[in-house]
Amino acid sequence: MISEEILKKIAHIVGQKHLIAGRDELVEYGSDATKLEGMPDAVIFPQNSGEVSGILRLATEKGFPVIPRGAGSGMSGGAVPVRAGIVMAMNRFDRILAIDQDNLICKVEPGVITADLQKAVENIGLFYPPDPASVNISTIGGNVAECAGGLRAVKYGVTRDYVLGLTVVLPTGEIINTGVETMKGVAGYDLTRLIVGSEGTLAVITAITLRLVPKPAARRTMIAFFPDVSSAVDTVSRIIRNRIIPTILEFMDRHCLDCVREGLNLPIPPEAGAMLLIEVDGEEVLVEQEAERIRSVCCQGKVIKFQAASGKEESEKLWEARRNVSPSLYKLRPHKISEDIVVPRSRMTEVVAFLDEMGNKYGLSIPAFGHAGDGNIHVNIMLDKDDSKEMENALTIIKALFEKVIHLGGTITGEHGVGLTKAPYLEMEIPRAGLDLMSRIKKAFDPKGILNPGKIFYQRI
Ligand SMILES: Cc1cc2nc3c(=O)[nH]c(=O)nc-3n(C[C@H](O)[C@H](O)[C@H](O)COP(=O)(O)OP(=O)(O)OC[C@H]3O[C@@H](n4cnc5c(N)ncnc54)[C@H](O)[C@@H]3O)c2cc1C
Repeated sequence: MISEEILKKIAHIVGQKHLIAGRDELVEYGSDATKLEGMPDAVIFPQNSGEVSGILRLATEKGFPVIPRGAGSGMSGGAVPVRAGIVMAMNRFDRILAIDQDNLICKVEPGVITADLQKAVENIGLFYPPDPASVNISTIGGNVAECAGGLRAVKYGVTRDYVLGLTVVLPTGEIINTGVETMKGVAGYDLTRLIVGSEGTLAVITAITLRLVPKPAARRTMIAFFPDVSSAVDTVSRIIRNRIIPTILEFMDRHCLDCVREGLNLPIPPEAGAMLLIEVDGEEVLVEQEAERIRSVCCQGKVIKFQAASGKEESEKLWEARRNVSPSLYKLRPHKISEDIVVPRSRMTEVVAFLDEMGNKYGLSIPAFGHAGDGNIHVNIMLDKDDSKEMENALTIIKALFEKVIHLGGTITGEHGVGLTKAPYLEMEIPRAGLDLMSRIKKAFDPKGILNPGKIFYQRI
């Protein structure tokens, strides 16, 4: 518990009205999309790097935890205050500082909502491609801290590929700039890349320089239904082998289709066991050519039904099933544990077959959907978390799944991060020597371990 005296010092730095310490108000800042819970001692809303620096310096001196927080949409418990302390909510860092059309870069504060940045640059014919499905709520700071991926990663890459430079405050209070504001730059170690994806454990990000690209002139949406996952995955491989890189290549398995089927504007064929949502973008003529080639690849395979949208309205209809999938899974059970494993694209069928086997063995439903173009599968273990047997079975399945994924040459998390939920499993993927080096890096940044403790590195709390 942080003392009254320290709270007074904190209030002096950020201003009393930007500090909350009432229990009822704190609850909202104790959780994220995982629904894991912690309780902070207070939440503060700093507005500039100087205030962040003052708080972190005090935290290092007095030894209290500080947990940076964006929108709290994280899926691995990264923003959950597991050892109490101060939640540092970055909502007031909400300005787009500059959009430089000559150099195709922009500078933003971390609390900007991802979709707001996308709209601002698209209004002037530019494009910020990273597109997590949470764009309407997540912040750019949270995206950078998690290295968010999303739906367009197959063609455009992930957040890391767009971050050129950062302003960050170290746990010891120093404010530093990393990286460049140019397209090239190799001066010194790449601290920018180290901090991207560091899940708020190395530094607090207070400004971000991002690379932009021209906005694609046209896009075309298509949907294809297949009898089973293996024919959908085979089609994904053949699209790529045909040297077409779609912007979107999303898949859903039979369990997901069953959950979203009802009430859709676009009927799902009853015999469908898998779906691909495909989108291409670029110059109008090329988009038409690529869409035609994709139609022909799908039709050469075992497609049951293929449809290409003729306009924006129809495109929205094709997106409906994918957009509805996550909430509709709760029809199966009241809770879910979501994993975001990645395997080489060609091995996805093996993973889905493995999930069916595990589901049957342990009597749980495990719908899978995700970014087929990246081999990134969102695995959802549906359960009643108050049922201890179901919970135990789910944990057994997760461990077996991670073993399988690593055996197939994949990773236990493609975009949601390690946070709390995957910390106990990290050693399955990263050998001890690698983890030791990471913990020495953490120590160099954060000698007193005050920044977001309990995340990434597994310690029993
Ligand atoms: C419905 C839904 C769909 C999603 N879809 C995707 C998807 O397609 N792809 C994907 O990658 N993710 C997805 N996510 C996960 C989540 O939205 C992302 O991880 C996002 O980047 C988190 O942003 P946030 O602002 O909510 O961060 P938070 O959840 O608040 O924080 C996440 C982590 O970042 C740290 N952090 C936040 N701000 C800062 C800062 N300024 N400095 C240092 N550290 C900071 C926190 O300490 C924490 O560790 C989804 C989540 C939901 C709920």
